[in-house]
Amino acid sequence: MEILGDIKNYDWGKLGESSEVVKLAKLNDSSFVVENNKPYSELWMGDHVSGPSKVKSTGESLASFIQKDCESIIGGQPKLPFLLKVLSIRKALSIQVHPNKEEAERLHRLYPDVYKDPNHKPEIAIALTPFLALCDFRPHAEIYAQLKSHNELVELLGISNIDLIKTNGAEGLKTCYSKLMKSDDASIRKCIDGLAEKFKNDDSKLAEVFRTIQADFPYDVGSLSLFFLNLIEMKPGDSIYLAAKIPHAYLFGDCIECMSCSDNVVRAGLTPKFKDVENLLSMLIYDGSKADDKLFKPTVLDASHPHTYLFKPPIDDFAVCKIELPSDVNDYEVVNSKFGSIVLVISGNAKLSGSGMETLEIHRGSVIFLASKVGPKVSLTDIEDDFICYQAMFNNF
Ligand SMILES: [Zn+2]
Repeated sequence: MEILGDIKNYDWGKLGESSEVVKLAKLNDSSFVVENNKPYSELWMGDHVSGPSKVKSTGESLASFIQKDCESIIGGQPKLPFLLKVLSIRKALSIQVHPNKEEAERLHRLYPDVYKDPNHKPEIAIALTPFLALCDFRPHAEIYAQLKSHNELVELLGISNIDLIKTNGAEGLKTCYSKLMKSDDASIRKCIDGLAEKFKNDDSKLAEVFRTIQADFPYDVGSLSLFFLNLIEMKPGDSIYLAAKIPHAYLFGDCIECMSCSDNVVRAGLTPKFKDVENLLSMLIYDGSKADDKLFKPTVLDASHPHTYLFKPPIDDFAVCKIELPSDVNDYEVVNSKFGSIVLVISGNAKLSGSGMETLEIHRGSVIFLASKVGPKVSLTDIEDDFICYQAMFNNF
């Protein structure tokens, strides 16, 4: 059946019609009224308690619809283990890290008001438009060279701490990053002022991002994390996977995001919200890796589904399929999970049909919930234009 996503208006979202969230939501809901200067940041597709989707024909919450018959709708699970989103970003999101399951349980037990659930929160982001993100620490040699090349950073962090990255690897990096995160406001201000002066007429990507972040979040320590973390420029279709303990931030652009159902975030900057520095520093993985190695590549599902590209993270909670059909393909088979799935159409038109469901005419913006009793095989027919959709489901591949 068709569903309507839940729209979020967080401050960092793209405004009005420029938001991908609006572009897609409008095509799925003719009654949707767009306000020009309002941010439209996220479209949530799933049964999450903080923003469940609605059944399009009745307006009922997807969460209550599912709860009526978990067995035939989502294969007997208590609720969907994942949440699918579209994000449209004008202003950077906080630099953050997510705990693994064990740590999430500990943090939730100790600080239930801050860490509201005991679950982990791995995420995958797939770019819909040119997309900019910070992901993981850079290789140690790169961080060492970056920090050494700016007197302002040497003064802030201390040359002996910076040298530790060369001599002590991950432990040295932890010392150096801890020094950054625990520096007092006045020292951080001085360092940022010096770098801002230096980067005024610099046309490197790093300098450009530094200026943007400094304008949006004046004197936030997060802008100095730029020298530690990989700056990743993604093309539409490129993806990154954010495992537990990996620092990251989404900076600009539109993407599909899929994650486990959790809200557990430990923040490190670019936010007015609470920064839990001690838990952050003890949780991070300081090994570092190359920017190119952070791109998360899909594989073709199998020989019978040559146009289905599977993004399969190393966790059970979710996987994402991208189905991209060449113009000469007129019918195609979609695989449904025994726990149900959610499909978002990005472009093209088609008819969708299967056992136990009515035939649906779907198009760009359509969001379809496939219950577990539908399928396992669902047909796309009468396919027109370049058809692309994303499908989120339990990772039972
Ligand atoms: Zn995250």
